[in-house]
Amino acid sequence: MIEIKNYINGKLVAPEKGNYLDNIDPALGSVYSKIPSSDGVDVEQAVSAAKKAFPSWSKLSNQKRYEYLNRIADIIDQNIDKLAAAESLDNGKPLWLATKVDIPRASSNFRFFATAILHFASESHEMREEAINYTLRHPIGVVGCISPWNLPLYLFTWKIAPALAAGNCVVAKPSEVTPMTAYLLSEICIEAGLPPGVLNIVHGLGQNVGEELVKHPQVKAISFTGGTQTGKKIASIAAPMFKKLSLELGGKNPNIIFNDCDYDLALKTSVISSFSNQGQICLCGSRIFIQKDIYDTFKNDFVTKVQRMKVGDPKEDTTRVGALVSEAHMNKVLEHIQIAKEEGGNVLCGGERVIVDGRCKDGYFVAPTVIEGLAATCQTNMQEIFGPVVTLIPFETEEEVLEYANCVDYGLSATIWTQDLNKATRMSNQIEAGIVWINCWLLRDLRTPFGGVKSSGVGREGGWDALRFFTEPKNVCIKYLP
Ligand code: NDP
Repeated sequence: MIEIKNYINGKLVAPEKGNYLDNIDPALGSVYSKIPSSDGVDVEQAVSAAKKAFPSWSKLSNQKRYEYLNRIADIIDQNIDKLAAAESLDNGKPLWLATKVDIPRASSNFRFFATAILHFASESHEMREEAINYTLRHPIGVVGCISPWNLPLYLFTWKIAPALAAGNCVVAKPSEVTPMTAYLLSEICIEAGLPPGVLNIVHGLGQNVGEELVKHPQVKAISFTGGTQTGKKIASIAAPMFKKLSLELGGKNPNIIFNDCDYDLALKTSVISSFSNQGQICLCGSRIFIQKDIYDTFKNDFVTKVQRMKVGDPKEDTTRVGALVSEAHMNKVLEHIQIAKEEGGNVLCGGERVIVDGRCKDGYFVAPTVIEGLAATCQTNMQEIFGPVVTLIPFETEEEVLEYANCVDYGLSATIWTQDLNKATRMSNQIEAGIVWINCWLLRDLRTPFGGVKSSGVGREGGWDALRFFTEPKNVCIKYLP
């Protein structure tokens, strides 16, 4: 059985106290590896290694840091099949999805920020004939990166790459539910010759490793992606210590379909935006609002397509819905479906656990579920489920659907389907979300600001925003002498 190790000061090491957790294959429902259950002692070692590495890493030329990060990207590309297989096994997602999306994006993250740092610039502000201000942007020091289980390597590297590119040293904690590709990344960093201590990866539980990292006085910034409740907890510890904080939290995103949409595209993409990665993407459009004239037709066509999606073994190319990430998460999703029924929801398809034939018979599978007949303000439509569950809600006017879209605490993303550009821009101006997709979903340009408003988080990732987050600005004002 594989025993995952921490990556501290350039070495793969066992947790100091020798404690381990089980790592479960969610498609089989059985333990397949051991993961360190690290604690404050391991975090301390990682932080001190990062601190020691910081002076030389931060002083390296951007060109040199570019070379290291690009080398890591190259090795990820060379190992795409191995990494994708590990991601699919650890998370339950279809292998084809990990191969097509997760792992290529992880190498793009490194490549993107490797090159971005070569082009990053800071401002200068001249005060006519009197003075010139210029802004320095220095790396912060040791920073903490904490990531969730839904897109394990994809989101882990999305934080680590800009932090390293900007000259920081990192202590990172992947989700204990999906640690495997982070472990493989530590092997890749060793192969790439990354200097010891520049990146440290400590595995273990959120309450132990994550919280110790957030509390640590030498960790000057925290970049976190995960649930809103965890984000609140982290903010309550980090804010009084005046740490820089980037919080990417939950979503309950509206998918708004107007009568005048490109019908086939809206239908096809809505199936994907509802159930991709088993609905476990913070950007999934879990509330589908359909304008009255096309409601019945869209509903029938949508349900027909969803019923055709194959739920099953993540290794099979024809599988569209793999396993949920854990038994606990599957039970949480099933509880939400039960609540929806109690609230008067009509389950049009799915609604239950699926027992898959063969090797996956004990895995954590839930049928893609479509529910109608619920008010926009009921619990099901207000709380994030983060699973393969969507609701359908009819609407008549723009004003009505805007009210529905904005009535939740979350504000991460929104999708709008219409061929009327005026309507699309009117809607996007008024929707409370950090990201609006018009006639598309999850079309990502890594230069754009990524993040949410309201309970979906604070700050933006991506492009210059990420490099600005991971650097501290200092203004220097020089008076012109006569
Ligand atoms: P969690 O908030 O449970 O966990 C996220 C990470 O934080 C994990 O590594 C977790 O460790 C760690 N953690 C847990 N408790 C603490 C703590 N007290 N202090 C520090 N770290 C802690 O989220 P999930 O992993 O369940 O991920 C799902 C959530 O992530 C959903 O709400 C989803 O919407 C959100 N998400 C947001 C995205 C965005 O960009 N806005 C993108 C993807 C997901 P451990 O796993 O060991 O508990």
